[in-house]
Amino acid sequence: TIGMLALGRNGDLSGACTTSGMAFKMHGRVGDSPIIGAGLYVDNEVGGATATGVGEEVIRTVGSFLVVELMRQGLSPRNACREAVKRIIKKKPEAAKKIQVGFLALNKNGEYGAFSLQKGFSFAVCDRYQQDLLLDGESMY
Ligand code: ASP
Repeated sequence: TIGMLALGRNGDLSGACTTSGMAFKMHGRVGDSPIIGAGLYVDNEVGGATATGVGEEVIRTVGSFLVVELMRQGLSPRNACREAVKRIIKKKPEAAKKIQVGFLALNKNGEYGAFSLQKGFSFAVCDRYQQDLLLDGESMY
């Protein structure tokens, strides 16, 4: 999945995501990317979030919506992503060790963060200070 979150000069948030789907997927499978609240969610009052990885687990936790709601409750983008990752582990502790799911979030103040199950989830930042800052998100395992 490629997910993008943006905060415009006028303070409005937007987001988009696209996906290649999963390898060897079942015919007709619908992943998380086209489901609002799962692979992507933006609330212009709070922030936006997007997800990558095993879509079934993201759908099961309504992951991106969860991240935005956690930010609404006051969590930082990074901590909201971490809580959503923990929710996936709580539902399937053993399976979570072997799959990847990562969340990326941006809030209304322009603060951003990411967290994933496994290492290797990196993201790029572009703002008035930097053009192509490549960062590694933290991971649980
Ligand atoms: N999240 C996508 C899916 O499950 C896979 C991906 O990360 O591209 O369809």
